[in-house]
Amino acid sequence: MLTLQLADSYKRIGLKDKAFRVKYCSCELSFKVNYHTGERKLHSMKSCQVRLCSICNWRRSLKIFGQVSKVMDYALQEQEYRFIFFLTITCKNIEGHELSRQIDNLFYAFKKLVLKAKVKKAVKGWFRAYRLHIILMVNKSYFKKTDLYLSQEEWTSLWKDCLKVDYTPVVDVRAFKTGTKKQTAKSVAETVKYAVKDTDYLIENNKDLTDKTVLELDGALANRRLIAFGGELRKIHKLLNLDDPEDGDLVNTDNEEELRDDVKYSIEVYNWYIGYKQYIKNYF
Ligand SMILES: [Zn+2]
Repeated sequence: MLTLQLADSYKRIGLKDKAFRVKYCSCELSFKVNYHTGERKLHSMKSCQVRLCSICNWRRSLKIFGQVSKVMDYALQEQEYRFIFFLTITCKNIEGHELSRQIDNLFYAFKKLVLKAKVKKAVKGWFRAYRLHIILMVNKSYFKKTDLYLSQEEWTSLWKDCLKVDYTPVVDVRAFKTGTKKQTAKSVAETVKYAVKDTDYLIENNKDLTDKTVLELDGALANRRLIAFGGELRKIHKLLNLDDPEDGDLVNTDNEEELRDDVKYSIEVYNWYIGYKQYIKNYF
């Protein structure tokens, strides 16, 4: 099981407390089962809250899906907003020990980006996930008003300026296609997807490399906010009294009620890939 591999690695690198917490993460799980539909719902669990724990990350992802869905819905009730995806692709392969600095740089560059006059004028709110997958909220008029609209080239040049790099960074800016549900769902899943995949640090048949990567990633991610809401979306997040999706309660994932269809679809896919597959294999 993946969390046991992670626990072993923590033990080898001398982080015994984390090894223990990860090892016993969620060993007490209870589910509410709906006997009519067969649907299972997590009722209680003891989570370790370690950033690299895949069980905790599964729950965090659900929580983030739930919160993004709620916040977007609330915003749309207020005004006819439109959403845009802003994805950046890091060209350079980053060595583990550089990761912490790279995350700082990216987050700092993004902070500068949203403060740029043109962006400030056009963007009403944003959601940022790890590795800079971003949802930007704009007024409906954004696509029609030439003084508001920013082309792919303009976004790229602004981003280059904020990053302070001499190469042209790859930026992908796309409007949410609300017409095609599948497309939107795919993009939401891509954006909201939580932080780190276990295959990023659990390297098959290579304990040394696994340990090195775990140590580096653990340090890079410690006490860091990997996701954030800004502008109007941040206000709504606060207004709805939603807790911290990274360190908050991982049983209540804020998605019990009606969810947007696109987000719901993403959760199903995510559950299958991350959660159920592992749980079915290891627990049932
Ligand atoms: Zn955990």
